Amino acid sequence: MATVKLRKKGQTQREIAQALGMDRSTVSHYLNGRNLSKDSIEVAELVVNMCPKDFLLFTHTLLKDKDRTRIIIQTCQKNRYEGKVKNSCIGCGLCVDTCLMKAVVLNDLKAQIDFEWCCGCLICVEMCPTNSIEIKEVVD
Ligand code: SF4
Ligand code: SF4
Repeated sequence: MATVKLRKKGQTQREIAQALGMDRSTVSHYLNGRNLSKDSIEVAELVVNMCPKDFLLFTHTLLKDKDRTRIIIQTCQKNRYEGKVKNSCIGCGLCVDTCLMKAVVLNDLKAQIDFEWCCGCLICVEMCPTNSIEIKEVVD
């Protein structure tokens, strides 16, 4: 699913292979609909339709690679998220260390979230000792 979506975004087979850690011939096979059984497509759709946290943790457990995980999640996730970090943030950095999407940085001892990469897993919200993070789904 990720290869097809990245191709639709205009990426070349070489770029897709590099981003997903695959060889080009495998990417080509997927783009041509080969290597895809009906069962594997159904399983992929089930995984993508999990809640954001389960989708993220399942994919990371499977791939054991943060960079590939965040690209697949960002490419295949169905929703977008928005929110803010409140002034009560003490800059402890727990959210930065916890975010598998690498969507959080510390700036002047205050967390900042890049919502281009946030997948709405809410792990940072659960971890924050000062309840400073608010994240919600964007409703169009
Ligand atoms: S975990 Fe909470 S208090 Fe710590 S840096 Fe992140 S937002 Fe700030
Ligand atoms: S909800 Fe928090 S931990 Fe999850 S991706 Fe967004 S910023 Fe990262």
